[in-house]
Amino acid sequence: MIDSADMMMEEHGFESDYLSLAVSPASETVFQPKDVRQNSAQFVGANRVLIVDDDPQIQRLLSQVARRVGYETIAADTIDSALESIQGGAALILLDLQLDGCDGLGLIDRLSLSHPGTPIVLMSGCDPRLLTMAENACKEHDCTIAGVLSKPFEMSALATILKRYRRDTAETARQRLEQAMRTGAIVAHYQPIVDLQTGILAGAEALVRWAHPELGLLSPANIIPQAEENGLMPDLTFLMLEQAIRDWGNLPVDYRNLNVAVNVSPSVLADDHLVVKVVELLKTYDLPPERLTLEITESASLLDVPKVRTALCRLRLLGVELSLDDFGTGYSSLLALRDLPFNKVKLDRAFVTHADAQPEQLAIATSVTRLVHDLNLKLVGEGIESQQCFDLSRQIGMDYGQGFLIARPIGYSDFRKYACMHPSMN
Ligand code: C2E
Ligand code: MG
Ligand code: MG
Repeated sequence: MIDSADMMMEEHGFESDYLSLAVSPASETVFQPKDVRQNSAQFVGANRVLIVDDDPQIQRLLSQVARRVGYETIAADTIDSALESIQGGAALILLDLQLDGCDGLGLIDRLSLSHPGTPIVLMSGCDPRLLTMAENACKEHDCTIAGVLSKPFEMSALATILKRYRRDTAETARQRLEQAMRTGAIVAHYQPIVDLQTGILAGAEALVRWAHPELGLLSPANIIPQAEENGLMPDLTFLMLEQAIRDWGNLPVDYRNLNVAVNVSPSVLADDHLVVKVVELLKTYDLPPERLTLEITESASLLDVPKVRTALCRLRLLGVELSLDDFGTGYSSLLALRDLPFNKVKLDRAFVTHADAQPEQLAIATSVTRLVHDLNLKLVGEGIESQQCFDLSRQIGMDYGQGFLIARPIGYSDFRKYACMHPSMN
């Protein structure tokens, strides 16, 4: 019987690198679960991995790796036993696509109904093209694919994925995030926003990223839920405000009309310090208030919490721009537009990205643009990914546009280069 992980790894053709747990280099690719609002479960779910593989030795090997990373493990070798085992919950599923007598895709079909959103690592020794096709099939089932490993694979690759999804204890999660904020690992990336009618660069939205020493660049989906759970949203917001206001204060004089938008969650708007902090930062970095936009996601508390309403009014009176983010999703409310001092609306990408191909999206985008203009506000279209969508957004009269077609979020120095190549509104 083979006992040690090393011997098993050799036996199965895996490279014996797990024991050194090689650290993957920081990657430019943002680790991005599907949606920041859907995926906080990875931090609150059970710290358990379900291993579905019909080879007992591989089961033991994977289990050993997962346990070293800090998980509990359960193993199954058939679809039925997997479905039974997962009833107690799992943070992650490691799934061999070629199970004896059945295919792993059949399991995915059923898991997408019983445990939607549980991240899955696909493993297989089949033709890599087939593995890619299987991955695409999973995406069609709306599954979260945490990784795809073509056997034989390096154990460090598996360990890296496992670490990403590991649920830290509340204390260590808080400490790590606090340390990241203290040491400058939490950074603002900037996604350009253009004036759709002139094509000229109008500004950018600051989006939080975590330059993680082991996991590469982490997206808000890995940061915001942790910050919320640990009461760190005010600190995170102040840090982002400071970076953005400082960066914009430092832009060359030629770019003095560019605006920067910072996301502020409604819970932070109720913080008594927010308005004072914004005033202080604008003064310190000599940035006129109209060059700062605060983006606030629609939420019930915008209307219901008096402190939030007061903060919005004070900010607007100071001259800071206010944008209602993700309009059309969540707690959409026309009352927010009627009763709160927003001067911009950001139409969610769910109504923009495919407006050129889907008549329903186009109808909503057109009507919202008209409504927003009738209210004397400006409309920003989010999620412009194609030229057709860009052209259409312009045609229906949207004022500003943001999306991967124009540019992805980039670091400050790259943003400065981008701004250099794209004239501003001077
Ligand atoms: P958001 O404020 O609506 O920001 C836009 C998100 O859409 C960004 O995702 C951006 O990368 C993505 N995006 C932009 N263009 C396209 C496109 O053409 N196609 C697609 N598919 N996506 C596009 P990101 O950076 O992952 O941020 C997600 C959300 O996290 C943000 O949505 C915002 O709600 C939140 N967030 C980000 N940074 C902060 C922050 O500093 N504070 C707070 N409170 N929330 C933040
Ligand atoms: Mg936003
Ligand atoms: Mg948005």
